Amino acid sequence: MTNDIKIIDGINHSKNLIESVKKLVLKSEKLNKRKPSIAVILIGENLASKIYVKNKIKTAEKIGIVSKRITLPSSISEKELLNKIKNLNEQREIDGILVQLPLPDHISEYKIILSIDPKKDVDGFHPINLGNLFLGNNNGMIPCTPLGCIYMLKKELGSLSGLNATIVGRSNIVGKPMQSLLLKENCTTTITHSNTRNLSGFTQKADILIAAIGMAEFIDNSYIKNEATIIDVGINRKKINDKNKILGDVNFDNVISKVNLITPVPGGVGPMTIACLMYNTVKASFLRNDYEFKEIIFDE
Ligand code: NAP
Repeated sequence: MTNDIKIIDGINHSKNLIESVKKLVLKSEKLNKRKPSIAVILIGENLASKIYVKNKIKTAEKIGIVSKRITLPSSISEKELLNKIKNLNEQREIDGILVQLPLPDHISEYKIILSIDPKKDVDGFHPINLGNLFLGNNNGMIPCTPLGCIYMLKKELGSLSGLNATIVGRSNIVGKPMQSLLLKENCTTTITHSNTRNLSGFTQKADILIAAIGMAEFIDNSYIKNEATIIDVGINRKKINDKNKILGDVNFDNVISKVNLITPVPGGVGPMTIACLMYNTVKASFLRNDYEFKEIIFDE
């Protein structure tokens, strides 16, 4: 078996999803008599955040979603930012609002997320949206990264029912929503973290292993079961031989001979995250205007 056929090609999956989103954009435009739209707020000078926002806006514009980029200085007060969001909540023609994280230390991430209208919360981080996901409802906004992971898993493996899925990492934006999505697909789920004792004892049982740790190449072949499917969420920037490299949380070369399928970094989860943001934006443009929305990620 060559290594190529073991790779889950996130670029290709994201292109396919974007093609479906483009059709929904046209349908939304017909119904609403305007294009779907997203407002993206960027605060401060974080280089990675700037790149993420640039890519999100570029993709939106390419597929007919109107985007409004709002750049604010890191000195902005929490109150001023809350007022900006209130104003965007009130604008009828704005379907989605995204505040790029992380925020400066003096601003409460929780307060900001809570202030976004849940119907416009295209990141899916508002407690109402996370609560719906926890209850097993997929009709709210679902965080983009886990949504992209479940999309690829369903496309690659078909039914996930009965599989053991272990997640390494319990963040609110990846690990926890990932567990809810896998549970909804009838996986038996385990979530692990930095205090987990005997981590490999859990990961070695996983038919599906999700690595969302933030530590370059942490997972090697001693952590995985033969023929496991691995989703590597990690994005770790490292300088190697004077070149900037992006590494995943999984040591790809070390595990490849043992796995069934694996997402590479880059070219795996990353492109799917942006495609899912576009999906959530167009979904918001249907739902907040009370138009029926046919789910394409779970029902296809
Ligand atoms: P995070 O909030 O820092 O969470 C990391 C998680 O890993 C925590 O739950 C932590 O446990 C756990 N962890 C840390 N060291 C561990 C260890 N030695 N053993 C077991 N668990 C350990 O990170 P995140 O926001 O979820 O992101 C995770 C990674 O995904 C990062 O590399 C990030 O850049 C990447 N990411 C990629 C995308 C994408 O689009 N591809 C999107 C989001 C994030 P504790 O809770 O106990 O501290």
